[in-house]
Formats: sequence, C-alpha cells, structure tokens
Amino acid sequence: MSKCQILGSHCFVAGFVYMKKVLVTGGAGFIGSHLVEALLGQGCSVICLDNFFTGSMKNIIPFRDNPNFECIRHDIVVPILLEVDQIYHLACPASPVHYQENPIKTLKTSVLGTLNMLGIAKRVKARILLASTSEVYGDPQIHPQVETYNGNVNPVGPRACYDEGKRAAETLMIGYRDYNHTNVAIARIFNTYGPRMLPNDGRVVSNFICQVLRGENITVYGDGTQTRSFCYVADMVDGLIRLMESGESGPINLGNPYEVTVGDLAEKIRWMIPGTGSEIAYKQLPEDDPLRRKPNISVAETKLGWTPKVPLETGLHSTIEYFREELGSIHVKR
Ligand code: NAD
Ligand code: UDP
Repeated sequence: MSKCQILGSHCFVAGFVYMKKVLVTGGAGFIGSHLVEALLGQGCSVICLDNFFTGSMKNIIPFRDNPNFECIRHDIVVPILLEVDQIYHLACPASPVHYQENPIKTLKTSVLGTLNMLGIAKRVKARILLASTSEVYGDPQIHPQVETYNGNVNPVGPRACYDEGKRAAETLMIGYRDYNHTNVAIARIFNTYGPRMLPNDGRVVSNFICQVLRGENITVYGDGTQTRSFCYVADMVDGLIRLMESGESGPINLGNPYEVTVGDLAEKIRWMIPGTGSEIAYKQLPEDDPLRRKPNISVAETKLGWTPKVPLETGLHSTIEYFREELGSIHVKR
C-alpha cells in the first residue's frame, strides 16, 4: 500500500478517496470488540484478527452483517500478509489467570506477535499502536506512575511472562521506529472494565460482580488494602483512538486516576447489588501482586486532550446490568 493521507475514516492517495482499512488484533476480546464497534461507527473498514483464546464469537456477532467488517481466525505468532492503513495491536491474554496458563505462549504472543504486526506496518507503511500495560511498572515504587518511571518487575516471577513480554514488545516498537522509521504508538493501559468481560475472566471487577450476582462469597485476595484505578471501557476506546490519530509515539498512560482499595471495591459492588447474602472471603494474595497502582495521565491530557469521563459507579452499573443478563438469573440467597 502506498503512502496515503488519512483524514477521519478515509484515505487520500493520488487523488483517489477510499475507506480507511484498520486491523484490530484481539478484536474479539473485551477492549478489542468495543474498539471495532467504535471504528465501524466512524465508517472505517475493519479486519479483526483473533485466535479466540480469550475472545468470544458473541462479542463480534453484532458486526457480522456489516459489509465493512471481516474476521480472520489466526494466531499472531504466525506471520500473515495484510494490506491496511492502521493497526491496533491488542492481541494478548490480559487476565493473570489466562496469561499464566501457558507463560511461554504468552511471551511468544507478545514478542513474536508484535514482531509480525510490526512487519506488516513496516511493509505497508501503516501506523501501529501497541496495547501495552501498567504492568510494565511491576510493583511500582513511585506513585502515581509516570511514563518516565522504569518500573520494578520481577523477571522470574509468575507475572513475568506478561510484564516482560509487554516490555519487550515496547522495545520492538521503539526499535522499528528508530531503525525502520515505522510509525508507532504505545499506550500503557491501566485496569479497564466494562461489558463483554468474560464471566470466568478472573479479573477483580468481573469476579466480584459475578460472585455477588450468584450469591457467592466475594474473594478478596490479601487484606484488600492493595489499590487499583479502574477505567471504563468507553473512555479507554476514546483514548486509544485519540492516540492513533495523534502523531505521538508515547509511551502514554491511559487510565482513570480514581484509586480505590480492593476491599472498598468489594463493599461498593455488594452495596450496588443488595440482598444476595454475599460475604467477604479473604484468600491468599498472589505472588508479586502490585500493592498500589494509579496512573499519572498528564501526558494524555496535554498531548491527546483526553481525560476519562465515566465515574466508577456509573461504569459499574452498566457492567452489573451486562452480567445480570449474561448469567441469566439472579441467585438470591436469604
Ligand atoms: P482479552 O483477553 O479480552 O482480549 C485479548 C484478545 O486477544 C482475545 O480476543 C484473545 O482471543 C486474543 N488473542 C490472545 N492471544 C492471541 C494470539 N496469539 N493470536 C491472536 N489473538 C490472540 O483482553 P483485553 O482486556 O481486551 O485486553 C486487550 C489488550 O489490552 C491486551 O493486549 C492487554 O494486554 C491490554 N491491556 C488490557 C488491560 C485491561 O485492564 N483490560 C490493562 C492493560 C493492558
Ligand atoms: N483480586 C481479588 N479478588 C479476585 C480477583 C482479584 O482480590 O477475585 C485482586 C488482585 O489480587 C489484585 C486486584 O484485585 O490485587 C486486581 O486484580 P486483577 O487480576 O483484576 O488485575 P491486576 O492484578 O492485573 O491489576
């Protein structure tokens, strides 16, 4: 594909106008499917590339009849030839439960998968955005986390396959930018939640909501004083698109700086779904579980004009309604 000028959802090449073609790896996953929906809504032509490890066909069924949507079942560890204008590279399991299931495969997905996507970007001169993570900061020793902080990651711990895989992926992105002049962007995504997370995803928001809806006890790991900062998925998609449309390489933190303890999150969800009889059940804190996490988003605010808008309670409300429907019926225990 020759060099084109991209304006909104269209490209201009030598006097011709055509629809912008966007590749979304991991497009059948949680964030990916919301991104695909937003891009189709903007009038882009979208190819979703996914091996359905943690993605679901249900997430992309709504786009099935859209003539601008195409899905390819493919593992990004294997090279593929595609002609696109932009690549949102999201494919990688994100929940500790899933990424620890096969650590070698997780590393291969981050390293070989990113290398393969960078190969496409280089060949067709597409802009590529990597969905990196706040996990590159590990168990951070500075708070809130700024992009210039180099992190505190255990390279041989249970989270290493994900953390070090994403760190290597960032290095590949910058290498391709500096050596091959590839047009790259790195988003460091902080904890994101919302509809279309898997009920068995293992992450804290989906676990707590599903547990309360089923009338089960809420599994708080450790004493619940560890913190996270939760961003609603619609805000995250807005941030990713703004970063793609900017000329920035990043890395840029994307997340909601509103910080809560895991214990308070459990209480809030219990309060929002009353009458199910769920109690707090304390479980062992997983090894290397970060103690505190909160993004400094001043770079995103200044360079992208982005700030998350959806308050935690509003986002939790939509997520609870989604899971209420997903789980079918509410198990009320008195
Ligand atoms: P998800 O698990 O719902 O989505 C990941 C998608 O990638 C799934 O559809 C999965 O099937 C696909 N996939 C995994 N390995 C693949 C492979 N080898 N080849 C092709 N497809 C593959 O996770 P998510 O929460 O939507 O996360 C999306 C991206 O954002 C990930 O890269 C993740 O690291 C990053 N991220 C997410 C969060 C978060 O809180 N949700 C936080 C930080 C970073
Ligand atoms: N967590 C918890 N109970 C659960 C799932 C997670 O207490 O059922 C805790 C977990 O130990 C961590 C926080 O919630 O401190 C966020 O976990 P998650 O897996 O959602 O994301 P990450 O640790 O990758 O930020």
